[in-house]
Amino acid sequence: MKNVFQKIIDGELPCNKVFENERIIAFKDIAPHAPIHILIVSKKAIPNLSQATKEDGPLLAEMLLVASDIAKQFGIEDNFRLITNNGEEAGQTVFQLHFHLLGGKVLGELC
Ligand code: AMP
Repeated sequence: MKNVFQKIIDGELPCNKVFENERIIAFKDIAPHAPIHILIVSKKAIPNLSQATKEDGPLLAEMLLVASDIAKQFGIEDNFRLITNNGEEAGQTVFQLHFHLLGGKVLGELC
């Protein structure tokens, strides 16, 4: 069964898109934890970071650079947080590799 991000990638669910290319899509989180909360999502079906392999290296690098570009686009390039939740106990709810880009306020401690 498709996860929610795969449905967004396939155009079956709407999203508030801020970036897309052949490998990556980025859109606003539906339940933001900060004024700016954007998800940078791999289109390749990689469940999470620990399932990524060496061949995914260029994709991972590109995701980080896309995050940095989006931070610039939203004017938060000097103060942002980029995180990935890896596994249920780490808070992962959607098993499609993604990073959370957070900013636009003073960010508190991580845990
Ligand atoms: P995680 O818990 O790290 O797997 O992150 C999943 C994120 O996806 C959560 O922050 C959710 O708020 C967000 N989310 C779930 N469904 C949607 C959706 N349809 N559009 C945008 N964000 C979503």
